[in-house]
Amino acid sequence: MDENINELISDLKTYLEYLKGMGIVSLPTSEMKPNEPGQSTMITLEDVRKELGDCKRCKLHRGRKTIVFGEGNEKATLMLIGEGPGYDEDVQGRPFVGRAGQLLTKILQSINLPREEVYIANIIKCRPPQNRNPEPDEIQSCSPFLMKQIRVIQPKIICALGTFSAQTLLKTDVKISALRGKFYDLEEIKVIPTYHPAFLLRNPERKREVWEDMKKIAELLNNA
Ligand code: URA
Repeated sequence: MDENINELISDLKTYLEYLKGMGIVSLPTSEMKPNEPGQSTMITLEDVRKELGDCKRCKLHRGRKTIVFGEGNEKATLMLIGEGPGYDEDVQGRPFVGRAGQLLTKILQSINLPREEVYIANIIKCRPPQNRNPEPDEIQSCSPFLMKQIRVIQPKIICALGTFSAQTLLKTDVKISALRGKFYDLEEIKVIPTYHPAFLLRNPERKREVWEDMKKIAELLNNA
């Protein structure tokens, strides 16, 4: 028995030496997060999408038409994260394509950022019935995929759109009016919450505050 173990250890050592010779100096473990320094294989958004598959990890799959994975530039320096798909997004399979989405596109234009240059996603990828707030079990099933998207993209800034996104990303229950306009740390990334474009459609007088927040984003991006 001892002899077998010694042989196994010796074989393993030989194999590790062989890998080292090939330039592989660390091995992925289940605890390792995607695209961390030291990881030998880089995962892509396509890999994350494949892993998500025809997701049935939570009850929202029953009522959805389409999974809204997220879209945009894989190398974006700015990522915007909303709450979850609404009617139009569920039909088209793309984030922020309804009225709130059109306003978001204009907000981005206000700091000279074409929509294609950023990456847009949501806390959850399937439309909740009657657009209700996502429930904890739904966020728990979905958020590992959002976290992987974030780690693949490695944006400099995440703009959290609205109460739900800001509170989920920052793990807080502080109101959006108190959170907005300030930068918070999420690993290496700066998170800045602002009002959700759907809220602005109902409260256009709050657009000025979002404009202030966008200017802060533009300033940080331009000082890269
Ligand atoms: N609202 C969101 O939070 N996300 C979308 O994709 C659309 C509307």
